[in-house]
Amino acid sequence: MTTFTIEKTETPMDPAHRAQLLVSPAFGRVFTDHMATIRYTSEKGWHDAKITARRPLSIDPASTVLHYGQEIFEGMKAYREADGHIATFRPQANAARFAASARRMGMAELPEDLFIQAVDELVRIDQDWVPAGEGQSLYLRPFMISNEVFLGVKPASEYLFIVIACPVGAYFSAGCVSVWVSEFYTRAAIGGTGEAKCGGNYAGSLVAQAEAKEKGCDQVLFLDARERRYVEEMGGMNVMFVRNDGKIVTPPLGGTILRGITRDSLIRLAADNGIEVIEEPVEIDEIFTGAASGKYTEAFACGTAAVLSPVGKLVRPSGEAVFGDGETPGPVATKLKKILTDLQGGRTNDAHGWVHRIV
Ligand SMILES: *Cc1c(COP(=O)(O)O)cnc(C)c1O
Repeated sequence: MTTFTIEKTETPMDPAHRAQLLVSPAFGRVFTDHMATIRYTSEKGWHDAKITARRPLSIDPASTVLHYGQEIFEGMKAYREADGHIATFRPQANAARFAASARRMGMAELPEDLFIQAVDELVRIDQDWVPAGEGQSLYLRPFMISNEVFLGVKPASEYLFIVIACPVGAYFSAGCVSVWVSEFYTRAAIGGTGEAKCGGNYAGSLVAQAEAKEKGCDQVLFLDARERRYVEEMGGMNVMFVRNDGKIVTPPLGGTILRGITRDSLIRLAADNGIEVIEEPVEIDEIFTGAASGKYTEAFACGTAAVLSPVGKLVRPSGEAVFGDGETPGPVATKLKKILTDLQGGRTNDAHGWVHRIV
């Protein structure tokens, strides 16, 4: 175990004010009192692990991240369990994915146990910030930036790892989301960075997300970069389709799709509950004809932030694919969401050992 130097904030938020903020926090706007930081240099390796007050960083204008974008992140949540404990969900999977993202981006790899420890230390010190309401949790954002003062183009020799946290409620309001199919912009190509959780992937997706908004949709769905024929994923969520034979179909991981931990968890929980999930290429045209013919009865997006969001309709220039009545979440999505959130909230038996108790 690494020893974290703990420097508690001298100006913690007043409990009454915090309680007020925890009633219905907007996603990503309210932050806890502290942050965890660890530094890396090629000479010293990982060092200077700390918990401090959450505060602005001081960065040289020539810091590499500001120019070449070596940045990766994770998204995970701490939940208040039914028995009063606080736990995260599959943090080893986040730690492993973070290391894989670092490798792809030519960044220093943070040891997985140190990643988990940093998150645990922050959750412990800011435990009063974990909200208890239904659908609420403490969203954790571990991330890493390159931070060498140098304008040459090469993997940096210095990095800064940070964890910040924010109490959150539901990401989308109840009901279904509408999704714009991006026929021009793509998210990731084979050999690219699609499987790394890096800020650059998001930067490249924002104009497509803005196009979706313009078309009156909530989210954007990306197709494969080679043919624009197969479904890949949304800007920050994986996607699944329910067929009328009760099976679920989802695009396979192949280097261009982010390895969602929610995706993986749902595949395994579905199997536990007798629902088969088929990982195979999904043609967008087939989804449109299948939605019309009744072959596809439901669609949903999945990811840590939004958990599981039923999709009411897909929209593209040539028409719409509507699932069910387009407004009411379908039975399979509803059932799987309950199974997953009951497990995360400690309301059911943790058969896979996925719940990581911190407090
Ligand atoms: C984070 C992310 C997901 C979802 O991953 P989870 O581990 O389920 O949160 C899906 N797609 C992209 C592009 C992501 O960045």
